[in-house]
Amino acid sequence: EASHTVVIVGGGAGGIAVAASLRSRKPDLDIAIIEPADVHYYQPGWTMVGGGVFEPATTARTMASLIPDGVRWIKAAVAAFEPERKAVILEGCRVVTYDRLIVASGLTLNWGGIEGLGETLGRNGVTSNYRYDLAPYTWELVQGLRSGRAVFTQPPMPIKCAGAPQKALYLSADHWRREGRLGNIEIDFFNAGPVLFGVKEYVPALMEYVERYRAGLHFGHTLTRIDGSAKRAWFATKAGDGSPSTVEVPFDMIHVTPPQRAPDFVRASPLADANGWVEVDQASLRHTRFPDVYALGDACSAPNAKTAAAARKQAPVVAHNLLHDLGYVRAPHVAYDGYGSCPLTVERGKILLAEFGYGGALLPSFPSWFIDGTKPSRMAWFLKERMLPPIYWKAMLKGREWMAKPKAAA
Ligand code: FAD
Repeated sequence: EASHTVVIVGGGAGGIAVAASLRSRKPDLDIAIIEPADVHYYQPGWTMVGGGVFEPATTARTMASLIPDGVRWIKAAVAAFEPERKAVILEGCRVVTYDRLIVASGLTLNWGGIEGLGETLGRNGVTSNYRYDLAPYTWELVQGLRSGRAVFTQPPMPIKCAGAPQKALYLSADHWRREGRLGNIEIDFFNAGPVLFGVKEYVPALMEYVERYRAGLHFGHTLTRIDGSAKRAWFATKAGDGSPSTVEVPFDMIHVTPPQRAPDFVRASPLADANGWVEVDQASLRHTRFPDVYALGDACSAPNAKTAAAARKQAPVVAHNLLHDLGYVRAPHVAYDGYGSCPLTVERGKILLAEFGYGGALLPSFPSWFIDGTKPSRMAWFLKERMLPPIYWKAMLKGREWMAKPKAAA
């Protein structure tokens, strides 16, 4: 039975960032990361791959190259949590015990939740930027489509990067506009939710692009079934009288954002809240029932936008508070303000930089003369294309926190 002072579950954006943050504060801390994958992905780059801007390989690095020096990598998947005895159970029944646990397992993309999707993904014009191997297919389809109908879908919230479904739409439509094909391509956005974007300040600018691209908006429509070879999709919705109904939609290409949920081993564990996410206090990110457990990133219950940007701000909060609990840091607990960010790629070369925290409070990183997040901006595109990838690889994943200084708890 292995034992470590700190055990981190998951070596994604949150897991690597928090390991690096802990080591930068306490270089001799005994940490293990449990992570089965050989490759770590910079998922925010996949929208740019689907838009023909980034090469896929720039969004992938070996896990071995990212696990901070001195941190033990346990290459296995966690199967269960036993927080009463401070243990995690690995697949194959090995046990790892801890003083403090950090859950950063991310969420599960439920491709199987849509009938017929698995069989046709990557063929028949059916694609998704939510998978590394499929994002290049999006760009292939966009380049190839000369006329017909392009459909984009968004499942019920919460999802990671809530703006990504419409980012795919805008970048595709912008390509068709530049190529003079927009008149021959009908674009439709089917969204399970009731609004274009959850923070109202960003909606007017987005609506201008919806109109420019003449995209049809269909709220309250949830994708349930797809038949790739027949090029048809079915959506559940409500008829005028409120009774359930189904809409059949033909397509030439369809970009699917899959339904998303907490991983099964998290949902089934004592750590989960009623919705399956790891139940944390939204400011301290400490578990509400098991004080030696923390969580960050997509797997935690905090009601922020599930983004890598959120994990960037959460990692130092978890690191600080955990080291405080262990007695290594005297300064009191720090608080996470719910910061998340969604750079909405409204056209090639311009971004609407949505940055907001709990309750929809706008939390801009820059003065408005430099980047006004509610207006499309070239500077914000430059940030996304040139600055955010190095900030991710070289600052966030290395424990350099000049973009993520946490604030003292109230
Ligand atoms: P992940 O980075 O997904 O990592 C989870 C890790 O846990 C993985 O390495 C996985 O292998 C591991 N794991 C899973 N199961 C187990 C197990 N049983 N045992 C141990 N380890 C396990 N964010 C932004 O900030 N800006 C954007 O513009 C943006 N755009 C996006 C566009 C797309 C298409 C997608 C898909 C995501 C986008 N995101 C964006 C969201 C961002 O990528 C995630 O919010 C972020 O990666 C979450 O970090 P995480 O550590 O919680 O999860």
